[in-house]
Amino acid sequence: MKIGFIGLGNMGAPMATNLAKAGHEVTGFDVAGTTAEGVAQAATAEAAVQGADVVITMLPNGDILRKVAGQIIPAMTAGATLVDCSTVDVESARAVAQQAEAAGLKSVDAPVSGGIGGAAAGTLTFMAGGSADAFAAAEPLFEIMGQKAVHCGAAGAGQAAKICNNMILGVTMIATCEAFALADKLGLDRQKMFDVVSTSSGYSWTMNAYCPAPGVGPQSPADNGYQPGFAAELMLKDLGLSQQAAEAADADTPMGQQALALYRTFVEDEDGRGRDFSAMLPRFEGRGRS
Ligand code: NAD
Repeated sequence: MKIGFIGLGNMGAPMATNLAKAGHEVTGFDVAGTTAEGVAQAATAEAAVQGADVVITMLPNGDILRKVAGQIIPAMTAGATLVDCSTVDVESARAVAQQAEAAGLKSVDAPVSGGIGGAAAGTLTFMAGGSADAFAAAEPLFEIMGQKAVHCGAAGAGQAAKICNNMILGVTMIATCEAFALADKLGLDRQKMFDVVSTSSGYSWTMNAYCPAPGVGPQSPADNGYQPGFAAELMLKDLGLSQQAAEAADADTPMGQQALALYRTFVEDEDGRGRDFSAMLPRFEGRGRS
């Protein structure tokens, strides 16, 4: 396939390289001038998408996605497929899908889970929204870049699944960290706390697979000085998107709201920026109730 790839950042570059390695003809563009191994570099976004069967975007946010979509949609060939893998607000995803469909294109929103490691290893999970036709056109590429793709529903459904998942993740990480900090103050050994909770009803992905306590549970960013991993500011972004969606849909999400406030304080006023999102544990560790 002929593929255009816009946004060759931390995630986009390895994803584009994996497509090229699988034998596809990939042309990329990034405003920062970044390149990716095996990927031809275009001078503009429009040039990168010309004649492409599939165009993939991997961009920082919804505003940038809308701007780039305005540039590339008119330059794409009718019948081609636009696949946005960025994490953006549901409204932007739906607006771009509408614009693409009006121009005779197929369109899928397909945000990912799995991080930079998953992008490099080709083991991402894709959660996709769009028509069955559009999903079918993108699926062979999801198989190269990832290990699982779920077709979640119509346009915007992929973004909806992503932000709901990450709202659970943020809330659960906070709960796990505050429970460890309480256990410390009650004199409970962290390993014992893990042994009990990881096999009891308090178990979760954050406890069992990504334990925030160093030296306890499987290897995680906690064992590496809380270097990300999944950075606290990315969690802040996703929690912000979940609350934006909750407001638009009139959904009551008190825990998500509280998690957003905590991660905002952690990143903007404390030492959270650049640290893994599990560094909430050292944050709670030294604090009292006030
Ligand atoms: P990044 O900032 O490394 O990459 C984004 C790239 O887009 C940059 O290279 C930037 O120069 C480029 N860009 C910005 N404006 C552009 C424009 N107008 N035209 C062309 N290129 C433009 O970010 P990332 O970590 O690769 O993340 C990309 C997306 O994936 C984000 O939406 C993020 O939320 C999501 N995501 C990231 C992770 C992660 O662990 N990094 C995990 C899951 C999802």
